[in-house]
Amino acid sequence: MRVDRIFEGGTLLTMDPARPRATALAVLGGRIVAVGDGDELRRHLDAERVVSLEGRTVVPGFHDAHNHMPSFGLGLSDIALSSPRIASVEDILRAVKARAATQPAGSWVIGSGYDQNKLAERRHPSAAELDAVAPDHLVWLRHNSGHMCVVGGRVLDAIGIESARVPEGGVVERDPAGRATGLLQEQAQSLVRALVYPYPHAELVEAIGRASERYLREGLTSVQEAGVGGGLVARSPVELMAWQDARRQGRLGVRATLMVAAEALHDLPHAAADGDGFGLDLGIRTGWGDEWLSIGAVKVFSDGSLIGRTAAMCCDFAGEPGNRGFFQMDVERLRRIITRAHRAGWQVATHAIGDRAVATVLCIYEEALRAHPRPDHRHRIEHCGVCRPEDVRRLAALGVIPVPQGRFISEIGDGMLDALGPERSAWCYRQRSFLEAGLPVPGSSDRPVVQGAPLLGIHDMVNQRTASGRPFNPGEALAPEEAIRCYTLHSARAAFREADLGSLEPGKLADFAVLSADPTAVAPESIAAIEVLATVVGGRVAHDLMGLG
Ligand SMILES: [Zn+2]
Repeated sequence: MRVDRIFEGGTLLTMDPARPRATALAVLGGRIVAVGDGDELRRHLDAERVVSLEGRTVVPGFHDAHNHMPSFGLGLSDIALSSPRIASVEDILRAVKARAATQPAGSWVIGSGYDQNKLAERRHPSAAELDAVAPDHLVWLRHNSGHMCVVGGRVLDAIGIESARVPEGGVVERDPAGRATGLLQEQAQSLVRALVYPYPHAELVEAIGRASERYLREGLTSVQEAGVGGGLVARSPVELMAWQDARRQGRLGVRATLMVAAEALHDLPHAAADGDGFGLDLGIRTGWGDEWLSIGAVKVFSDGSLIGRTAAMCCDFAGEPGNRGFFQMDVERLRRIITRAHRAGWQVATHAIGDRAVATVLCIYEEALRAHPRPDHRHRIEHCGVCRPEDVRRLAALGVIPVPQGRFISEIGDGMLDALGPERSAWCYRQRSFLEAGLPVPGSSDRPVVQGAPLLGIHDMVNQRTASGRPFNPGEALAPEEAIRCYTLHSARAAFREADLGSLEPGKLADFAVLSADPTAVAPESIAAIEVLATVVGGRVAHDLMGLG
């Protein structure tokens, strides 16, 4: 048999339990047709080209199960406000002033990535402070959690903040005199977004293209986009067109499964025999698409964030008596949306971080499944940040997939531990408990909330240390090989893509990354320093520091 290429002479960590290690693979028409050792493959196959892997380690292409790709791409032109570069409110004001000086009056000055927990003053900047440094601009600074933002006075005026109707699940912070401080939490952010959305397609295509280039350099070959078309994450109600344009123009470098924001689902005409009509026009739902672009779960928001202390908790946040966070919508409405989406055949992915939110969402899933049983539903809980022991068991019993973010541990782990206090920290961002309960644990970053390079996520999943060096729930640490399996096979499973993705075995798409060192063989503290030397998608070399061609 004739094949396009044989890649040989590497250490392949295949993630295929039937053959965990190999040294070569053969590719035909973008798919893997054989895995084994080079001599053996060359004996049976006639290859157009034989490519040497130079003894390097090869893993299946990394798959980020929860990220925000256009946001990341758009954010590449925002003022970067993440720490440690930005250490104080003063630093933020200086950066805003400098950017405003380069832009015409009346234009938007957008910054992203600040975290008040990491600022010397441990507070948000205020509208008054922003007005002092950029009085003529529309200033909008996004928190790194995505759950809140601060805007300047010009933006508050444009919103008409004194008379604006604040959406359910949103908070406009006010000072003792009743004036808006500039801080808008959760759904209140939609007041700002209404001023700038929808983004034009060309801008989104450019963002997807720029993000793709970065992702390929990091060994990512597939991602799940955590929400298009509405709600907190909306950039355009017709965003799918931008993704299609990106693909047509050759700018979509990685395979993408797009979750759809629950806000985009609506009543659909349906036959009485079909139970419930709820979804997108034409009946498009989870599973529609092809190997490059497909529709994934419906994305529902239940609560907020841990470091922002808006996640719905069973007990008060540490040191904040009375604050147990809140739900972003009335629980009855949440129940109705999840139940209807489930009944209409959608995979449901619900954002739940606090233990009260996780428990509530599990109850809703349980009821929906009891009323309308469905095999292999693969419903998910995004983040699943604080999970009580009884809820780990319920996840397993229901087959609900938790989607935690390894990289949170170092970048925002200190803030999370502070918010929880010592008693609850063992429940925070579990992974080993989930695996031991028999659940898949997809690898994901929630980029741009934190850095998204998979090897950084894997590093944290193994090392479990915060930025300040505190051990973070060390009992939940994974072995490097387990963490790689999360970022490949388990991620694929969470998107119903395991027939095509997630391991190096015959029949699957030829997506893989070549690494400078073997993560299972180096000292755990040096995993983050491993480089991605090449990335191959569908048999085509898409990132290449080795001259694989
Ligand atoms: Zn997210």
